[in-house]
Amino acid sequence: MNQNLLYQHSTLADLTAGLFSGTMLVSELLKHGDTGIGTGDGLDGELIILNGTLYQVTSTGAVNVLQPDDQIPFATVNFANYQPETAIQEQTRDETLAQIAGRHPWQNLFYSFQLTGKFSYMKTRSVKKQSKPYPTLEQAANDQATFEKYDVTGTMLGYYAPQLYNGVAVGGFHYHFLADDHDFGGHVLDFTVADAKLSMQVFTDLQEHFPATNPEFLNFDFAKHNDVASQIKNAEQ
Ligand SMILES: [Zn+2]
Repeated sequence: MNQNLLYQHSTLADLTAGLFSGTMLVSELLKHGDTGIGTGDGLDGELIILNGTLYQVTSTGAVNVLQPDDQIPFATVNFANYQPETAIQEQTRDETLAQIAGRHPWQNLFYSFQLTGKFSYMKTRSVKKQSKPYPTLEQAANDQATFEKYDVTGTMLGYYAPQLYNGVAVGGFHYHFLADDHDFGGHVLDFTVADAKLSMQVFTDLQEHFPATNPEFLNFDFAKHNDVASQIKNAEQ
């Protein structure tokens, strides 16, 4: 188990191309990490992995636990080794992300953060399960469900990718949330921290795993799909 390694299955670019079919078993993914984020088969909801359990927040807002024989199209995972950083109180999203970004000279590295505690406001979204022929990620994201909650306790799990890797991942921050009582979560659009603890983990290594036996991926013509950056911006941020 290498805690310096960030492992990713498939890429954001593949999702922007509408390659939503599950191409990795949950049981296989969890060999590469116990903590992470991703999306479900057919873009079925937002995934957050905590302590080796893969939670799926669907577009109805329900939270399910995915099973070992479920398939996922995209995920980023690591073995947790988060180091305590600081307490954060009464801060907006922008203030909090700026504080996280300013704590270490890691702008050219991949790193992860966790914020655990109380949030006075949380706005999330979850994408809806799509059926074939799949649309683009941007089209699917226009079909998302959004959820808001005030005074919620839980865990926000985020990843930072250097801008150079926008396309492989989401350049900048990408973060999901799960409430402690497992009745609320998703891909975070906005939040306000009430009182939370920040911890962070930096990675020296990135392992990119491709869906190497999936015909849709193998035959997709990325030369005809050249607006990945704007699609990621519109779909994920
Ligand atoms: Zn997300």
